[in-house]
Amino acid sequence: MTEKVDLHVLGRELLAGIKKNIESLGRTVRYMEVCGTHTVSIFRAGLRQILPESVELVSGPGCPVCVTPDIYMDTAIAYAKQEDVIITTFGDMLKVPGSKSSLSEAMAEGADIRVVYSPLDSLPIAKENPNKKVIFLAVGFETTAPTAAAVVIAAKEQGIENFYVLSAQKLVPPAMKSLLADPEMRIDGFLLPGHVAVVTGTDDFAFLADEYKLPGVVAGFEPLEILRAVYRLTQMTVSGEAKVLNEYGKVVRAEGNPAARKILDMVYEPADSEWRGLGMIPASGLQVKKEWREYDISFVRPLDIPRVEKNTACRCGEVLSGKVTPHDCPLFGKACVPEHSIGPCMVSVEGVCAAWYKYGGGK
Ligand code: SF4
Repeated sequence: MTEKVDLHVLGRELLAGIKKNIESLGRTVRYMEVCGTHTVSIFRAGLRQILPESVELVSGPGCPVCVTPDIYMDTAIAYAKQEDVIITTFGDMLKVPGSKSSLSEAMAEGADIRVVYSPLDSLPIAKENPNKKVIFLAVGFETTAPTAAAVVIAAKEQGIENFYVLSAQKLVPPAMKSLLADPEMRIDGFLLPGHVAVVTGTDDFAFLADEYKLPGVVAGFEPLEILRAVYRLTQMTVSGEAKVLNEYGKVVRAEGNPAARKILDMVYEPADSEWRGLGMIPASGLQVKKEWREYDISFVRPLDIPRVEKNTACRCGEVLSGKVTPHDCPLFGKACVPEHSIGPCMVSVEGVCAAWYKYGGGK
């Protein structure tokens, strides 16, 4: 009980501090979060509604499923339709639309697609099905990539020769740089992703202050942790300081997690990668290194999938780059709802459109 009252007081103090900082500035500030878990926490706690009007929180490309482009989904679906293939994937990939269909539609047509909770769950499936090629759809950011590297190492150690990955894994800092290179983009600072920073460390985000003279705060996911990070951002905006601060010190260190980084670096290396909404970004993805290519299905059995230009009113790409809100999409809440999503931003629970739909959008 005492703790609850204290938290309320702390929350009020932080809000008062944010308000005071912003009033002294006399203009609207825009801070972007680049983590889907932050997006959901912000909406769930109603933070957008309680912050002053002049503090705008914008959602960026922080949902791994949402930024996965059509061409990757089309490729995954093409593999899934092959007789000797079993696809393993996280559940939220099933409904992500490709250019014409989705994995769930391929599944309904007979493709062998299995939902796993960890990439490592793919290995027993590979052992039980020696005549099949088991392909794990490796999608995600720095947070999950070490596990997707560990599974490749484990497959080698266990002598499993029918396990592969199809990598569309992405790196957050290059995407932030790409956003900042857009002359239309106005961002006053970043709420930096706590989970990603556990692996990368805060040092990977130092470029924000060094190259762009912008502040960033690594934050946890509790409402008060987010409010504290916003407070710190407003402090720095007002003072004109550009620093990268760590407000998630209980789990994030400057150097990150060296063991996780080592595993990641053993198996993967940076490569140019396509992001939905942001296009091709140099060195923003992770591809399997040459010495591990026997586990890379795109090398072992390459497919030539044609690009299909989709003509829908979906504005997911602009939503992901913070240029429009879901309310600017004519399909939002009408043709596109979580039960029947037109675009990927409505599919994942961490998708911006799904969060706006579930929690009402706010200001
Ligand atoms: Fe795309 Fe649906 Fe979001 Fe509109 S509401 S931008 S169709 S995902």
